[in-house]
Amino acid sequence: MAAGFAPPKLDEFILTERLGSGTYATVYKAYRKKNSREVVAIKCVHKKSLNKASVENLLTEIEILKAIRHPHIVELKDFQWDNENIYLIMEFCAGGDLSRFIRSRRMLPEHVGRRFLQQLASALLFLHERNISHLDLKPQNILLSSPDRPHLKLADFGFAQYMSPWDEKHVLRGSPLYMAPEMVCHNQYDARVDLWSVGVILYEALFGRPPFASKSFAELEDKIRSDKRIELPPGARVSRDCKDLLLRLLERDPLHRIMFEEFFTHPFVDLDHMPSAESLEKATSLVLEAVKKDQAGDHSTALSFYCKSLEYFVPALHYETDARRKEALRSKVNQYISRAEELKALVASDNKANFERAKSARDLLKELSKDKPRLLAALEMASAALLMEEEGKEYADALDLYQQSLGELLLMLAGEPQGRRRDLLHEEIKTLMSRAEYLKAHLKMKESQTEAASMDRYQLADSVKSSKYFM
Ligand code: ADP
Ligand code: MG
Repeated sequence: MAAGFAPPKLDEFILTERLGSGTYATVYKAYRKKNSREVVAIKCVHKKSLNKASVENLLTEIEILKAIRHPHIVELKDFQWDNENIYLIMEFCAGGDLSRFIRSRRMLPEHVGRRFLQQLASALLFLHERNISHLDLKPQNILLSSPDRPHLKLADFGFAQYMSPWDEKHVLRGSPLYMAPEMVCHNQYDARVDLWSVGVILYEALFGRPPFASKSFAELEDKIRSDKRIELPPGARVSRDCKDLLLRLLERDPLHRIMFEEFFTHPFVDLDHMPSAESLEKATSLVLEAVKKDQAGDHSTALSFYCKSLEYFVPALHYETDARRKEALRSKVNQYISRAEELKALVASDNKANFERAKSARDLLKELSKDKPRLLAALEMASAALLMEEEGKEYADALDLYQQSLGELLLMLAGEPQGRRRDLLHEEIKTLMSRAEYLKAHLKMKESQTEAASMDRYQLADSVKSSKYFM
């Protein structure tokens, strides 16, 4: 009898409601009969859906998974089997799966998508270090620990490698919406397909639908087989880091796709700043440095330490669960933000004074560079950045320009012989660098502030939604 109708019987457990079913299995909520009446989820894998030779391998694999403990991987507590099924006894995740979570909110704000991505990435890093791939990443296989403080838990992995994505009749199993093109088109693939799927999941979380969403199967197939670059939906508004990551994950050719190491350190993933038990400690030690520098009157170094500490304070705020401690932490963070704001104003006026002084030197330098078009072009680029910044326009673009021109100017400096022009160039580079540093600090601080603020709004909206009045 199919496991879908009546729950199978197990000696030690009472199986109750069906939680869901996927391609290979049906999952039930269950209680342990003895002792604790612990709640678990039991996944019944139909043996028939496995190729025979694989059953043994699968059991070995399960042994490995049983030894794995990670905060963002569903815990496998035990397993059993009978003639029809293999039973995986897992930790129960009360928050449903990510697919439902996204649908109920239509799409997620970028900072929420990013938190989830970091949690997913930390699980993937853990698996990557142990040479385990998932191969079937999709929102349905990502579970949420609880409805009100959702933590992501990666599920349903380590099995896909024993099952071809094509069945005996050459029909594709599972959903091609999340499969890397090489998996569908060539049936030849490796761990890198997981990175593609991460891209699809992030895309769907942010825009409410996967990149290959289609009205018909023919349309879907066209989109998969096409060699057109993936684009973000028209009018999509995400940060440049986010966009960069999406497009590098959603690279059709696995050879050109972002690699695992780059993925883990990409600025949008930035596992180092993920909310964790260590966030607060890192933040505190940086803020101590900031205070020291501040007391010594070194405004710009103090500012940069404050900014670095805020980058850990915001995740520390996310990580804190106790309401009282969270409130205390929040008011401290607000204090640091105000001090950083004051410092910023001081540094800005110092900068301005330096700048006026540097102006005549700059004009002279340009005059002396007339015979070197490449140098002159780089100097003009720096001037354009200055102008942009002075007009208070797109700071992020101004920073980009500074960085580009600095790259060029540093090259030029390396080839520049001793003399007046070299001295001037050296001075100019120093000023531009401090300018760029300041802009970077400014942008980071803005980000921390908006994130701290939007976090409040989102959590409020979240707790209202999940309150029992709406169930
Ligand atoms: P399949 O291999 O058949 O895809 P999954 O492990 O993905 O099986 O489980 C199918 C569905 O069952 C999931 O999408 C999820 O909704 C639900 N589910 C699975 N495991 C759990 C769990 N531990 N806690 C709560 N729900 C679960
Ligand atoms: Mg599944």
